[in-house]
Amino acid sequence: MPAATLWQALADLVLPASCAGCGRSGEPLRHEVCAACAAAVGSLRAAPTRPDPPPPGLPACVALGPYAGELRELLLAFKERGRHRLARPLGALLAEAVAAATPPGAPVLLLYVPDTAAAARARHGDHMRLLARAAAARLREAGRSAAAAAPLRALPKADSAHLTSAQRAAGAAAGFALRSRGIERVRRTAPGCVTMLLDDIVTTGSTLAAASELLAGAGVRVDGCVTLAATRRIQPQRAIWS
Ligand SMILES: [Zn+2]
Repeated sequence: MPAATLWQALADLVLPASCAGCGRSGEPLRHEVCAACAAAVGSLRAAPTRPDPPPPGLPACVALGPYAGELRELLLAFKERGRHRLARPLGALLAEAVAAATPPGAPVLLLYVPDTAAAARARHGDHMRLLARAAAARLREAGRSAAAAAPLRALPKADSAHLTSAQRAAGAAAGFALRSRGIERVRRTAPGCVTMLLDDIVTTGSTLAAASELLAGAGVRVDGCVTLAATRRIQPQRAIWS
């Protein structure tokens, strides 16, 4: 391989030249995102979302947008394709949703749904930890008092792809444990703050409900949940003519 070609290949490996949202190459990128994709996700407006049926114990939930299009691609690139520089723009989007979900100016404490140890290893870091920290930093830049804390750890879990909603809810309830140091910090910080629980995507809501209930049992009230994306559940086929 000629040296120039090898250099080009290595450069591409280190600095992906294609947009993480649309995959186009040759566009100027900021934090791995082209201007068109940045505009697309920037036009999303956070709104309340509610799984149907909502699981018991699920706090009010706000999502930035549907799990589709550029938002979905950026999340997948960040979580599954190692595009870690997306933490900053995705954290900024999450901060917007937090701002929409909380009273203006109120100090916020951001908790998050953690990765399992295996997922965090595969991703070279807990992806929600990175997003929660980036969101808190963005809120502070905007003049808000904001901190991120980690009172939960995720227990190893079996593959849940083929489980029913009820089985997933039961699995979610058993999916977390409290981190004693993290929970102490949250107990100290939470009074006077609006406490929000963050995740990347809400589908059935069972994960957010289970994490919220575990925190409530430890004396930490979750005031609301904020996610980047909400999936639309595919309803079971109904007979049209019955
Ligand atoms: Zn793009």
